[in-house]
Amino acid sequence: MLKKILLLVIIISSNFLLSLTKIDSLKSNLETASDIQKIFILEQLQEEFWAIYPQASLEYCKQSIKLATKLKKNSLQVKGLSNYAKTYKILKDYSKAIIYYKLTLDKAEEIDAKVIIISTLLNLAEAYLKQNDNVEAFDYALQASNMSKEFNDMNSLGKSRLIISDIYKHLNEFDKAMSNYKVALELFKKTNDPTSQAVIHEKMAHIYKVKNDIQNFRNHYNSAISIYIRTDDKEALLRSYETYGLFMKANDLIKESNYYFTKYAEINEEIERDFAQNKDLYYYEYYTAKGNTKKALSFYKNYQLKQDSLKSQKTKKDIDNLIGKVKNEFEKETDKLKSDIYSKDSQIKQIKEEADKIKSEQKKVLEEVNRKKQIIAKLESDTKKKSEILQFTNKRKNEFLVEVSNELMESEKKLEQLATTDHLTKLPNRRSMVEKLNYQQKRYERNKKPFSVVIADIDDFKEVNDNFGHECGDHVLKSISDTFRSMIRQQDICARWGGEEFLFLFPETDEDGAEVISNKIRKKIEKTIIIYNQKEIDITVSFGIAQYSYPKSINNCIANADSSLYAGKRSGKNKVVCASILKDKGVK
Ligand code: GH3
Ligand code: MG
Ligand code: MG
Repeated sequence: MLKKILLLVIIISSNFLLSLTKIDSLKSNLETASDIQKIFILEQLQEEFWAIYPQASLEYCKQSIKLATKLKKNSLQVKGLSNYAKTYKILKDYSKAIIYYKLTLDKAEEIDAKVIIISTLLNLAEAYLKQNDNVEAFDYALQASNMSKEFNDMNSLGKSRLIISDIYKHLNEFDKAMSNYKVALELFKKTNDPTSQAVIHEKMAHIYKVKNDIQNFRNHYNSAISIYIRTDDKEALLRSYETYGLFMKANDLIKESNYYFTKYAEINEEIERDFAQNKDLYYYEYYTAKGNTKKALSFYKNYQLKQDSLKSQKTKKDIDNLIGKVKNEFEKETDKLKSDIYSKDSQIKQIKEEADKIKSEQKKVLEEVNRKKQIIAKLESDTKKKSEILQFTNKRKNEFLVEVSNELMESEKKLEQLATTDHLTKLPNRRSMVEKLNYQQKRYERNKKPFSVVIADIDDFKEVNDNFGHECGDHVLKSISDTFRSMIRQQDICARWGGEEFLFLFPETDEDGAEVISNKIRKKIEKTIIIYNQKEIDITVSFGIAQYSYPKSINNCIANADSSLYAGKRSGKNKVVCASILKDKGVK
């Protein structure tokens, strides 16, 4: 009995440390959790303790049932009750298990929890079977079977068939048992439940053992064993090898029985070794259960020390392996990285070189651009200067041209003046007057406006020269000229015609008009006393007038005026004589 409990402890011990850590963390979480959270934590604690110390599970079950009742959570209450019953089943207290499974069933039916109803029916059937109450067991198994069918729950149907088979086996109804096992086996194949399949193979093998059918026994045990090996179910393997070996021995199959006993021994040794390693843990649990915390703790310390040394040995080996593996991988990785880095480096180098090349090219281009810019700037400034110079030159040239042309004009004007002006009197000369007379004649042809010509001659000028000198004569000439100039209109012209003779041209003026102005001039000169070297010189002038008569020539007109002048001279000088009067008088 003790050994079996130990085995149970040992089998789960591989996960034991994990469990303890988990239990510790669950317990610490429990302190701060809300009621509903507490129920879930308590459920987990119940499950954890089933494998280690089921009595503790009972305590956690009670707590969770209380909380669920307080919170009126029926489904959680049912779960708590079911776990409470299950704990008694684990503790092999089947009568108590039955009581609580029945309570679970009542509550589950109240809230119509189908899944729990079916599993509870199965558990009740199992529990009754353990108590050899085949009738009750059959009743519950049948109920479970019917409900499983109703809800198409293949796994539960398989389980109910398995229990029914077991009942028939108990009743030595082997054929009925066998046919039900076969149905259950098929169902578990469908639901992919290898453990249940293995259990059925084992049970079928037992029937063949009873029937002494060695071959079928072997077939089913081999099937069971292969599944147990696969699921690493050491307890089941131990049981299977022992049964197998004993049956072979009973049939004098020594070699075969020795093979299975050896296998049994190997597994047993493995378990013993595990037990030796975990013995302290068992005692820790044992003394915890007894409430002897001091002893429990000392065993737990031993367990931890052994575990640590074992772990350190194993760990060292593992670490060595791991280091080797990691080193290898690391080296590979490093090599790869190195080659990657190298290739990246070379790529980077290449890119850098290219970049440098581009940069230097860019620099060159930039320099070239700058150089060209400078050239352009210089060209621009040169062009500007040139254009400025050109502008300046042009300006100068223009100015110069203007100057030159001005000078030229001036000189031409001077020349013209020289050519057309009388040097002494600054009056237009004869040549200039002839041009103007011709122009006037042409003008007359266009507008038919009359114009007159007047010849003026200084009276007795010879005497002035003779009496006062030639220079005085010049002075008189200049003075008379100034008077003439000052007394005529803008459009009138007075020219020195020769010696002491002057010719007036009065445009748009008839003979009468010319007579008026001539008399005005004559009177002015008559009144004027010319002073030369403190000497008073009296001067008079005679005028001969002729109006131009078309289409006669200018010369004819001048000749008429001249005739008029001589007529004036002959009649006493200081006179104005018109050609028309001469004509009227019949003078030629
Ligand atoms: P009349 O009244 O008939 O015109 O007599 P007149 O003395 O004025 O005329 P005449 O023809 O006899 O003399 C003109 C003189 O004028 C002769 C000449 O020496 C003088 N003479 C001509 N030109 C100039 C000149 O430019 N300067 C000076 N001082 N005398 C001049
Ligand atoms: Mg004269
Ligand atoms: Mg004269």
